[in-house]
Amino acid sequence: MAEQPLGAQGGGTGWSSANDAGATLSIDLGALATNWRMIAARSPRSACAAVVKADAYGLGLGVVVPALINAGCGTFFVAHLEEARRVRNIAETAHIYVLNGLPPGSSQAFAEIEARPVLCSTDEVFEWAGFLRTSGWRGGSALQVDTGMNRLGVSMEQARDLSQAVDRPPFSLIMTHLACAEQATHPLTVRQREAFESVRDWFPSTPASLANSSGAFLPGDPALDLVRPGYALYGGNPTPGLRNPMRNVVTLEARIIQVRTVSPGETVGYGAAWTAKRPTRIAIVSLGYADGYLRSASWEDGRPGAEAAIADSRRPVIGRVSMDMVAVDVTGVSELEARRGGFIQFIGPDMPLDDVANRAGTIGYEFLTRLGQRFHRVIKN
Ligand SMILES: *Cc1c(COP(=O)(O)O)cnc(C)c1O
Repeated sequence: MAEQPLGAQGGGTGWSSANDAGATLSIDLGALATNWRMIAARSPRSACAAVVKADAYGLGLGVVVPALINAGCGTFFVAHLEEARRVRNIAETAHIYVLNGLPPGSSQAFAEIEARPVLCSTDEVFEWAGFLRTSGWRGGSALQVDTGMNRLGVSMEQARDLSQAVDRPPFSLIMTHLACAEQATHPLTVRQREAFESVRDWFPSTPASLANSSGAFLPGDPALDLVRPGYALYGGNPTPGLRNPMRNVVTLEARIIQVRTVSPGETVGYGAAWTAKRPTRIAIVSLGYADGYLRSASWEDGRPGAEAAIADSRRPVIGRVSMDMVAVDVTGVSELEARRGGFIQFIGPDMPLDDVANRAGTIGYEFLTRLGQRFHRVIKN
């Protein structure tokens, strides 16, 4: 298994020495590529893109994009033009769509790196059309249609009018985004899918895209011409409540600084939020909310928080997560494992991202995109 610290590749973030850092974040690029191929293979007649906004959900554009290109991915979605610039520097020939639309006056900047705006309003559509006319630029753009999420996109009515407008840009993609993609029978999912069928009828020769990660697992043919997975590529479960079909990509392991015994009646950490009921062995670990291990993962006054894995068992995080430290109940774990310098897994194959996020009252997306800059990053495979 080829492993190299990110520092050795020149660039990226992360501390180069595993000994200096409190925690190690491993990113399995082989699993990432497998996940992309798996989603691509679900709908062989559709193309499969990759959503790499927010620095590839915190994993790092610099490692994720090359791995996906090697796997066969030729289309990327980002949120901002600056992210598109970073992808363009790595992916010379890829199609790059910018989800957050066309900021006023930015058309030329899009053309310079051959980025494609996802046009979200008629104002954006006509600003882009004007730019194409005056500049002669022939680059692509997507039309985002709002089918019920009420976030971004032109209305259904505007989409129908645009389909008949002679002065509209020649869209390279029409797309919409599902508000409840993980719920196939949610009335809004059903309505959005029906509405988007009408949009496809209005733009019969333009490729169409509907599905994010969860959308790709909907029944029927949700993939249409292009799927847009993000979360599932990084190992998140696109089918909440069912077995995760994706392979684990991100593993976060933090080092034990000290192991101590707490007597019944004693408390642990800030706010005395956890009280020992029995003699308890606790490990104090080098990971905190400054590393993106959310404070909401705390054990607070009887409400359990997240868990962490050590020696084939899951152990509760106890007390409040501090800025740089967290305590884990390791009672009964052998001293060989629960020892100064040993490691506890906070995210990974033994401690699924979705479980951790759920217990911290959030979603895995937030956990990934908050992961901090102080880890020793290891890139595998
Ligand atoms: C973020 C995003 C995606 C990817 O969603 P995942 O749930 O991460 O797969 C797809 N489409 C749009 C419009 C998005 O904003």
